[in-house]
Amino acid sequence: MSTIEKFDSHVMQTYGRLPIVLEKGSSACAVDEDGKSYIDFGSGIGTNSLGYCDEKWADAVCAQVRSIQHTSNYFYTKVQADLAERLCGITGYKSVFFGNSGAEANECAIKIARKYSFDKYGKDRGTIVTLVNSFHGRTVTTLSATGQDVFHNYFFPFTPGFVNTPVNDIPALEKLIAEDKSICAVMFEFVQGEGGVNRLDNDFVSKIFELCEKNDILTIADEVQSGMGRTGTVLASEQYGVKPDVTTLAKGIAGGIPMGACLAGEKCAQVLGKGAHGSTFGGNPVACAGAGAVLDRLTSDGFLADVVNKGYYISKALLDMDEVEAVTGMGMMIGVVLKDKDAHEVMEKAAEKGLLILTAKEKVRLLPPLTISVEDIDKGLDILREVLK
Ligand SMILES: *Cc1c(COP(=O)(O)O)cnc(C)c1O
Repeated sequence: MSTIEKFDSHVMQTYGRLPIVLEKGSSACAVDEDGKSYIDFGSGIGTNSLGYCDEKWADAVCAQVRSIQHTSNYFYTKVQADLAERLCGITGYKSVFFGNSGAEANECAIKIARKYSFDKYGKDRGTIVTLVNSFHGRTVTTLSATGQDVFHNYFFPFTPGFVNTPVNDIPALEKLIAEDKSICAVMFEFVQGEGGVNRLDNDFVSKIFELCEKNDILTIADEVQSGMGRTGTVLASEQYGVKPDVTTLAKGIAGGIPMGACLAGEKCAQVLGKGAHGSTFGGNPVACAGAGAVLDRLTSDGFLADVVNKGYYISKALLDMDEVEAVTGMGMMIGVVLKDKDAHEVMEKAAEKGLLILTAKEKVRLLPPLTISVEDIDKGLDILREVLK
């Protein structure tokens, strides 16, 4: 039986997969089981932020596996303490809870918002505003939070307490917050990833923060995709000049090892006390060691400026292609609006020619490893140019 046949007969078929079996990789290059190489402009949906098998990252992870691979959260580990201190230091947050995924980080954020409000105002103030076209995860509650009707099927009953408002529509937001007194938080992505790589307007973001401040409503930024250097700053919020009460991270945080993090500011840093939340694998030492290696790189001289420059470089090259109508996003989180071609077909054709890309709604989406070389960028762009011809 081939790998694909074996896989499909035993793994639940919850994804539309390309017929490629990836076996190994190095930097921005992946190799399949037949030995064919691919330039990877998706980095596993932005998870492999340092590319495949970065040497220093692999050393840190392997050293950790060989000293202590896991312990329960009833004990302390230095590697989790070090990571928490550094992550809070670099982001300006007060405390962090570690989980294993984006959905789990968002569940933590939702619990913080609801308990913050419960502690101060009692019951019936637990509604969370999310945006149309958002994506917050696949658990029942984070699906409920997700502002896309296609996700609100089959799994009834969904978690109550979420209302949606359209992106960049200030009057609608003002009306909602004025009329609904049960709101405890507004949750949003600065750049909607799965929803089509759309960035929020500065005015809209300012208005969210103004209204939330005035009404003691928490701001929750879902930076699961946009965080950890992806947009050219550690957090995308820096580029908007705002500081959300809560920020969630996952995807690229540990360089391809499962980790989610929920960061809380002064106001709600200690809302979740003993017994209020937990996660068996949360803060796993191996994941923490991987995240430490990612932070080493992110904070190294000129790294983030380089991400910004490569983002511009890719966007400019894309705009020079005839089939490209527009480029959206921030830094190395890039959406490509095509004139006539179908994004999904482009993804399939690109893979055949040795380039891995992603889609988001009707757009092509690029999330290359932050460490990709200009040479590999050019190789990937050459393939894309040919596919789009
Ligand atoms: C991917 C993603 C999630 C879900 O993360 P998982 O690790 O799959 O649970 C949540 N929010 C955003 C913005 C994402 O991009």
